[in-house]
Amino acid sequence: MISSSLNLSMKKWRQSLHQIPEFGFETFDTASFIVEKLKNFGITDIETNVGGTGVVATIRCGNSNKAIALRADMDALMITEKNDVAYKSLRPGFMHACGHDGHTATLLGAANVLHNEGGFNGVVRLLFQPAEEWGKGAQSMIDDQLMTRFPFVEIWGFHNMPGIPLGFFETCEGPFMSAEDNFEIILKGLGGHSSLPHKGRETLVPACSLIMELQTIVSRKINPNETAVISVTEFESDGLRNALPGTSVISGDVRSFNKSISQKIKIEMEKLVNSIAIAHDLEVEFKYTNEFIPLINDEELSKKSLEIASSVFGKRKTKKANEPITGSEDFARYLDKVPGSFAFIGNGSESKPLHNPYYDFNDEILQCGADYLIAVARSRLSV
Ligand SMILES: [Zn+2]
Ligand SMILES: [Zn+2]
Repeated sequence: MISSSLNLSMKKWRQSLHQIPEFGFETFDTASFIVEKLKNFGITDIETNVGGTGVVATIRCGNSNKAIALRADMDALMITEKNDVAYKSLRPGFMHACGHDGHTATLLGAANVLHNEGGFNGVVRLLFQPAEEWGKGAQSMIDDQLMTRFPFVEIWGFHNMPGIPLGFFETCEGPFMSAEDNFEIILKGLGGHSSLPHKGRETLVPACSLIMELQTIVSRKINPNETAVISVTEFESDGLRNALPGTSVISGDVRSFNKSISQKIKIEMEKLVNSIAIAHDLEVEFKYTNEFIPLINDEELSKKSLEIASSVFGKRKTKKANEPITGSEDFARYLDKVPGSFAFIGNGSESKPLHNPYYDFNDEILQCGADYLIAVARSRLSV
């Protein structure tokens, strides 16, 4: 259990991390901060620069070789903080607006207790991951031979969640968070004088038709029992008030919970793009990338997760999530390799949304978050 003095330290760590937000793979100072703390606890098995700036520390206790991983993300966002707090970001344009400062501090607290007090039989891998926000960090650590250099058979993690009451715990088995695909469509024709549309091959009207046609993929091509969202989020053209555009760019994202749906959407989108291009004599470039895969929680371990959580958060505050959410998390990349469970801990009903300039991780959930991770290690590696 996290003592009140360790809880105070975790708050200090969280607020210190909040002041030094770093983006993507540039989490150099954050990684150094983590390594310094782990060394202060007396943990010696620490590997840095895993998949970029990732840190993997190992704690052993007893004689079993069964290993599980606990994961925290370290990266911040390119958002200018608008909170007026004593520990406000010292780096203009960068901010911990997703609470990864809190996740890191939570895992440090759990590491401290697991190292000092043990209470388990096996191996705990602590994964501190960079670049979660743009979905590259987990894969980068995996590509750096994470699973062979630091083997583990299960992985566990959580994200704080605004809107869920403070200190409440939620998860569910199966699909829990969605895949995210990004697309960019560039239509190229011939711009020209707005009074002479027939002399050129302008792109704005065809682009508008295409945007409307894209709405038919979910409504007419996807099984209504499946979940999918296609959002056109940007539209740019090089037109002027009296000049028709020769180039239009449409971009956006797609969410789904099933790889075959994502593939189907890509194929249908490409068909529409090519048809519009043919109809209007345009050239076209189509890019479609899988940024995040769906996060699928292991059935058995997610039931275990709820059991463990009810002993930490209390039965009243532990809930099976009603439905998956269409947000994405690159924790899914680990779950594609080993079973595990990801969960949400409520950041409070009053909390500003994630990625908002007024968002702040609520320090009141550091203790229960760390107690949960400790309980997971002790339950899964029981003595
Ligand atoms: Zn985020
Ligand atoms: Zn996040």
